[in-house]
Amino acid sequence: MKRRNVVKALLAAGLLQTFNKTTKSYAQSTIRLKLCTTWSPKMPILQDSADLFADLVKAATNNKVQIKVYAGGELIPAFGVFDSVSQGSVDLGIGSPYYWGGKSVSFPLFATVPFGLNAQQFNSWLLNGGGNELWQEAYKPFNLVPFSIGNTGTQMGGWYKKPINSVQDLKGLKIRIPGIGGEIMSKVGANVVLLPGSEVYTALERGTIDAAEWTGPFHDERLGLHRAAKNYYYPGWQEPCSNIELIANSKTWSSLDPNIQAIIKLAADSVARWCLLRCEAENGPALKRLKTEHAVQVKLFPDDVIKVLKEASISYLTELRNKDPFAAKVIASVETFKASITEWANISEQAIARLDDI
Ligand code: CA
Repeated sequence: MKRRNVVKALLAAGLLQTFNKTTKSYAQSTIRLKLCTTWSPKMPILQDSADLFADLVKAATNNKVQIKVYAGGELIPAFGVFDSVSQGSVDLGIGSPYYWGGKSVSFPLFATVPFGLNAQQFNSWLLNGGGNELWQEAYKPFNLVPFSIGNTGTQMGGWYKKPINSVQDLKGLKIRIPGIGGEIMSKVGANVVLLPGSEVYTALERGTIDAAEWTGPFHDERLGLHRAAKNYYYPGWQEPCSNIELIANSKTWSSLDPNIQAIIKLAADSVARWCLLRCEAENGPALKRLKTEHAVQVKLFPDDVIKVLKEASISYLTELRNKDPFAAKVIASVETFKASITEWANISEQAIARLDDI
């Protein structure tokens, strides 16, 4: 669905009418904001989310707030988003918290924790388990206010030029994998590189890297990764979900009228839901196309490989806890929340999923 149609649909559904009613008393002066994403210009759903967000805010403020959206590389390099928004040369940014692990080792925890929570559970942690408060605390020293603006849902384990039959096959493997997943891959002997989405295909196709994980079937297909490697592994142990962030420069944020702040928050919430549900709808058909039209081999990681990755994950998180008190606080918060929901998850959604095997 084109984003214009989405805005139309939301307007038709009356979602924006409430917003519009609140905007009548605003002064006439236009507020122009710049938003830079880390995505490539044509990345569906992800870049569309940024455009949809700008459209919603514009419509809901009666054109008062006009957000100009730039994809990665259009105004600044993809990985320049955090610094540019932090310094205020750009007002808003969209990307993943795990791109900024170089700023603080705790940041990737706000994107996903390997072998951890799924999208619904992660969102619940943000909202109910203290996640949002910790995230705001983490970004505050960088003059940033973070919000969730999407989630990809569970990802795939990535594209490998050669099959992975044992842990030995990971040794020395050059792989693009960000976040804690990358730290874990390093621990088991892989050679990890961090690349923005826009550069993944070329690196894999040219053989600069031997493997790459990006997102799920739909986004991976769009990037053309099936043309560069044929072994497509699951599950995405490294990203049981992947939280996408909207970051606002704190000075810009505090200069906005509370009504506009409320509209921005509501628009981000609405787009976050849209993003996750679009991914859910697109991944199944894309997986089928990859298998039937592109001869992709969809493979389950061997149990002993998963076991070693899991052990490395536990050991990485333990080291992180010992190294960084704030990261320790975040990990404890995630674990407490996970412990509080696990018993219920086992007899609710997981039990329903198991019904397919009966
Ligand atoms: Ca990924």
